[in-house]
Amino acid sequence: MAFTADYNIHTHSHYCGHGTGEVHDYVEEASAWKLGLLGFSEHCPFPDHFLKRSRMDISMMPAYEADVREVAKTAPFPILLGYECDYFTKYHDYFKDLKDSGRLDYLVTGTHFIIRPDGRRVTPFSDELVKEDLWLYYKQMEEAVSTGFFDFIAHPDLFMAGYAGWDAGAQALARDVIQLSLSSGLPLEVNSNGLHKPQVAGRAPYPHEGFWRLASELGAPAVISSDAHKPGHLCADRGMVEEWALGLGIKLVKPVFKPGRLEWDRG
Ligand SMILES: [Zn+2]
Ligand SMILES: [Zn+2]
Repeated sequence: MAFTADYNIHTHSHYCGHGTGEVHDYVEEASAWKLGLLGFSEHCPFPDHFLKRSRMDISMMPAYEADVREVAKTAPFPILLGYECDYFTKYHDYFKDLKDSGRLDYLVTGTHFIIRPDGRRVTPFSDELVKEDLWLYYKQMEEAVSTGFFDFIAHPDLFMAGYAGWDAGAQALARDVIQLSLSSGLPLEVNSNGLHKPQVAGRAPYPHEGFWRLASELGAPAVISSDAHKPGHLCADRGMVEEWALGLGIKLVKPVFKPGRLEWDRG
């Protein structure tokens, strides 16, 4: 059964500092597109202000959470409150407390950075990944998934933003990431925000066709989201991306909201 992607569960706003638009602007945009579910997943800040240039300050969390809960009171569809988290083992207890807090509906894991053995922080957005980085990328994602804190895996093919070739190393990593989804049951995200990023080797950095052909072949569950950082991006690519995903035979699942948690209709 093929679902219509009448939801968006990866949404940012002005709170992260590199996005625009008030929370209510996104709700209005979602209403105009007749979505049935909207989830806010602002970049999660860290207690020691790590990555602060691309995160709201931790002191802003109550305001963000209150804002989302407030708009949810009058929205014509369920609004979910969550965070997109860069998981690093040293913050395990922090994320556990967040998960156990009862304040949130869901948590997403998104790997935007890896730390090389020499301590250097590397991101596929602006650094070229080398073969050794691919293993680190997998390890980091695997550690995040193994905590059980997270509900889906954001942009699992983001490594292809920093790695030009679809070579044996990239394919092996893709296979491992897809297996992680299959063994954990966590859906992978077809993230259309890559269509708005600078091209890599003449293609969008992600969604990466080779990755998703493999995901389709192996039967991994997937959700579609826009990862919007401005209201106009919330749904603009949705139809095109859904058609593309269905054309590749990707197994789409659909988020179903139950208060305090996110479940999946797997068809
Ligand atoms: Zn962002
Ligand atoms: Zn992300």
